Amino acid sequence: MPKSIYTVAALPGDGIGPEVVASTLKVLDRLTPVYNLAIKYTHYDFGAAAYQRTGARISATEMDEIGTHDAVLLGAMGLPGIRMPNGTEVAPQIDLRNHFGLFASLRHTRLFEGVPTRLKAENVDILVIRETTEGMFAGIYDEVETSDQSMSDRMTITRKTSEKLFEVAFAQARLRKAKGLPGHVTLLHKSNVLRSNGLLVKVFKEVAARYPDCGSADFYVDAGAMFFVTRPEIYDVVVTENIFGDIVSEVAAGIVGGLGVAPSGDVSEEHGVFQPCHGSAPDIAGQGVANPVATWLSAAMMLDWLGVRHKDTKCIDAAQHLRNAVERQLAEGPRTRDIGGIAKTNEVTQALLLAIDGEG
Ligand code: ATP
Repeated sequence: MPKSIYTVAALPGDGIGPEVVASTLKVLDRLTPVYNLAIKYTHYDFGAAAYQRTGARISATEMDEIGTHDAVLLGAMGLPGIRMPNGTEVAPQIDLRNHFGLFASLRHTRLFEGVPTRLKAENVDILVIRETTEGMFAGIYDEVETSDQSMSDRMTITRKTSEKLFEVAFAQARLRKAKGLPGHVTLLHKSNVLRSNGLLVKVFKEVAARYPDCGSADFYVDAGAMFFVTRPEIYDVVVTENIFGDIVSEVAAGIVGGLGVAPSGDVSEEHGVFQPCHGSAPDIAGQGVANPVATWLSAAMMLDWLGVRHKDTKCIDAAQHLRNAVERQLAEGPRTRDIGGIAKTNEVTQALLLAIDGEG
């Protein structure tokens, strides 16, 4: 059911995170009243800088509190040189993923007029969905073979998670179809070699049969990876397991001009954490030159997700309005330095506010 007020936990994090999140909250504040939507934000300070200051990492209780919100909007977390005593990076976003069991990572990749790319292509608008809790990436090792002569990693894929993953993929395909996109899901796998992937294909076909309004196909991942470069226009929603998804989502981001315009969302049935694909970019932090486009587009994904989850078309309309405004601004400028412009973060933000008014 639609809600009268949505609650969002804002976690700006490190480096350019606070700059791009501040820009995005301004944008949402301008957009949401147009659709009679109310969002209440709670700000949380987690990340590497906070860890250095307080010595405390995000706790289970704090994550539970964050989880009471309808969605989470995150900037970027982690700074070089700031590590925990065990040597690992301070990465509350990974803690959130584990704590909430966020099994699907959504990355939206599309070509924008005005953003320079290496690839000469048209009609590229791809949603890559990567499973993030299973497969080789889950780090479940066979303890029997741990020598310097032989090592092994285990790939386990379960029916339960695969079913949930494909339900997310087909729900997204339906949403895209309603916006005039094909509404088609492609599974990438290696079932000719990996038994676990045989199960993946079997479950995919079962779930696809429940969505007769959406098209579906499956390719071996090697051929499928090549198609990202040679025929990217054949893809709409692409879904795959953890390690293949790690690789092909970077390929997808690379073909459209990189990190500054690449949004993402990590979701389960209950929780959604939305953030730009880029990191904290400490080399440019504090200079007012960060590109906020990926965070704006992450906020659009968040609105879509709220809209699907709460059956609220106002959220989905607002998401589309935001995307249209971003699209127009990228085509006409101004743009930040990383995508060929000269404008500062506050200048592109002001321009987007005007573009939002103009789209209304
Ligand atoms: P992480 O390991 O945290 O994912 P990374 O080392 O892959 O991070 P980023 O922090 O994403 O790297 O930055 C990579 C490069 O891209 C840097 O030179 C950075 O300045 C640039 N960059 C990343 N995001 C942006 C942005 N939003 N605006 C402008 N430049 C950016």
